[in-house]
Amino acid sequence: MTLTTTCLCGFKELDDETFADHILVIFTPADSRGADGLIHEEREPLACACGITASAPEELDSHFFRSFTPRNAIGSDGKKHGVIDGA
Ligand SMILES: [Zn+2]
Ligand SMILES: [Zn+2]
Repeated sequence: MTLTTTCLCGFKELDDETFADHILVIFTPADSRGADGLIHEEREPLACACGITASAPEELDSHFFRSFTPRNAIGSDGKKHGVIDGA
């Protein structure tokens, strides 16, 4: 069974573009600075520039997701993005 993730904006996960890819494209600022004021980017495998390390790529993705999602979840395109509860 494949877990399909749909975004609030209507985006559905594709073979070549995952939900995490989509979210990161929408929310990552040009300077990679998160809502917490720290720079978040993968400089070494599974390690973020802010100092955290992850045990799996998904874990690092969710770290970026949390760090870059603005409080109102509105992306650079003016739409709301995020995981649909219960989907
Ligand atoms: Zn980080
Ligand atoms: Zn979206």
